[in-house]
Amino acid sequence: MASLYNVKIEQLKGVGKKRGELFNKLGIYSVGELLEFYPRSYEDWTTSENLLTANHGDAVCVKGQVVTPIKNGFTKTGKYISKLEVFDGENTMEVVFFNNRYISSMLKYGETYSFYGKISRTLNGVQMIAPEFSQKDSDNIHPIYNLTAGLTNRMVSNAVKQAITMLPEKLNDPLPENLREKFSLCNLRFAIENIHFPKDNNSLETARKRLITEELLVLNLGLRQLKNHQRENNTNIVKKDFSQEFENLLPFPLTNAQKRAISDCVKDVMNREVTLNRLVQGDVGSGKTAVAASLAYTVIKNGMQVAFMAPTELLAEQHYKTFVNFFKNTDINVSMLTGSLKQSEKDKVRDAVQKGEIQIVVGTHALITDKTQFYNLGLVVTDEQHRFGVSQRAKLLSKGNNPHLLVMSATPIPRTLGLIIYGDLDISIIDELPPGRQKIDTLLIGEDKRQRALGFIKQEVLKGRQAYIVCPLVEEGEMELASAEEYAAELMLNYFQDIPVGILHGKMKAQDKERVMKQFSDNELKILVATVVIEVGIDVPNATIMMIENAERFGLSQLHQLRGRVGRGKEKSYCILVSNYNYGTSFERLKTMCTTSDGFKIADADLKLRGPGDFFGSRQHGLPQLNISSFADTKSLELSQKIADYVMADSHNLLDDNYRGLKSKILRLFVNTGNSTLN
Ligand code: ADP
Ligand code: MG
Repeated sequence: MASLYNVKIEQLKGVGKKRGELFNKLGIYSVGELLEFYPRSYEDWTTSENLLTANHGDAVCVKGQVVTPIKNGFTKTGKYISKLEVFDGENTMEVVFFNNRYISSMLKYGETYSFYGKISRTLNGVQMIAPEFSQKDSDNIHPIYNLTAGLTNRMVSNAVKQAITMLPEKLNDPLPENLREKFSLCNLRFAIENIHFPKDNNSLETARKRLITEELLVLNLGLRQLKNHQRENNTNIVKKDFSQEFENLLPFPLTNAQKRAISDCVKDVMNREVTLNRLVQGDVGSGKTAVAASLAYTVIKNGMQVAFMAPTELLAEQHYKTFVNFFKNTDINVSMLTGSLKQSEKDKVRDAVQKGEIQIVVGTHALITDKTQFYNLGLVVTDEQHRFGVSQRAKLLSKGNNPHLLVMSATPIPRTLGLIIYGDLDISIIDELPPGRQKIDTLLIGEDKRQRALGFIKQEVLKGRQAYIVCPLVEEGEMELASAEEYAAELMLNYFQDIPVGILHGKMKAQDKERVMKQFSDNELKILVATVVIEVGIDVPNATIMMIENAERFGLSQLHQLRGRVGRGKEKSYCILVSNYNYGTSFERLKTMCTTSDGFKIADADLKLRGPGDFFGSRQHGLPQLNISSFADTKSLELSQKIADYVMADSHNLLDDNYRGLKSKILRLFVNTGNSTLN
């Protein structure tokens, strides 16, 4: 199999240079890659559908006899048309073809065929337009491939057939026999043959299960190796724990969950063997910053520097202020490095960082990773980690002398998924909010109550509070701008005449967005109308209302993040979900929001309902693209986890020759993520 990656697709019979380029367009360059180009779906020709019960719009197979001679003619618009009737033993359907002059020679009156196509139910009875057909009795399940212009399904499937015959007699299976036996997985040849040309539905399932498991296993093991690699060589050993001293600086006592997370981190940095490589995950408002600050304090007190990275300038600024406040009674120098600083100021900060005069620098990722040199960098902290992925993390660590890495994320994700996404990190979870937080009242209202809700917002604003309004979602592009502005204009005209309202939408330049956010956080704007997700992590304690239009269009986790923007201060906060769905699953989902504030429960519900895309947007997790499996498939994730545990116990670091094939699969998977640290 491995050698088939070296056989160019052009070398197949009937492919050649031109057609080869079409395969290239689909990402297929070699015969090996063609074999991994699994069908998008299948046509099941094994069971004939009953015409009486077949649903309008379904693609089905109908086996029947041609009971009329084929009638050819022209439509009103001049198209060549052929019609015939097919009898399935009980009912008839009309079969119609357009612009095919060979139909009369291909289909014979009185003969029986299988027809595969979409059923349409019309006033005149059941119809199938331009179906595929075949007279062979032993017909089976046909693969349907993703195509590109110029390439037909038949061309792809013929090429795959040929490729299968090229598989070597003795096929090296990346899953060795002991694993296949123990976890009831079929061998590679069976899997390849049956994923493309299934003997029957059972064989297809067996093949799928094996390939999915293999893919997730490879991913899982790859991430574990990444972790092992990164954790080697702790060159920044911390000798003394200063977390108690830090706690005495704080105006509040830490929660037990915060203390646990801090102690996890401190243990790691004091460990002589390995580098800290940890994710601190905690719901919005759980106090992750204080955890990071505590670790930073200990690291600095042991003579090293700390870099704190935020995804946006505004967040960087906010964290900067927080750190200045935490460290105000110490000799620690905090500096900020963001794009809006003058060049001379940036140079000054960088110079001081390089000389070691500044112990902690807070800034955006780009600024710190690209040019800044450190005197003695011991710890990197990054906030809101889901914005960048595995490979960026690896790049970060190339800074300085293998610094410790602490990642913070508010995106609650179910455990099984976490093991994959954060497979290269240890995890501490802050599962407790600081005391005295008020529950955010979440209300679900129909559009008929919008006016009252806006009246309520006005009242609160006049009392001194601020509010976010997430306006209706629209398609991306120009429309977005127009409709956000229109929406905001209408609100200003009809409800908020004397109130400063700001607008935030996806088409704005980053610096304009930041300006508006800053005006809002400085309380110059009282109401913020936004189309896009309002900056994660932003902390405006005076904002107490979050109103979300078309709430049913958002993922629950997204709603939870949005809701987390309020309820951050002393005042009572509200989240108003506007939706006209008062029935069905949309309604149930929104109801969940009203009854629970537990981010993990919400994430679990969301994953079940919508799949993992909504956690991260498209591919934001930075993992290699999956070919056949899905992160939403919890069962397979769990199985692959189990097998990975078994493999690691059986052969540490896959050194055993038995796992050679698996190891080369891991390398192949990670090649495209730019992860040179993997070996
Ligand atoms: P997040 O986990 O969402 O990043 P933050 O670190 O921004 O949360 O903390 C939210 C707010 O809670 C901040 O104003 C912070 O000062 C405060 N806070 C953090 N820890 C505690 C605590 N143990 N007791 C009281 N308030 C706390
Ligand atoms: Mg935060």
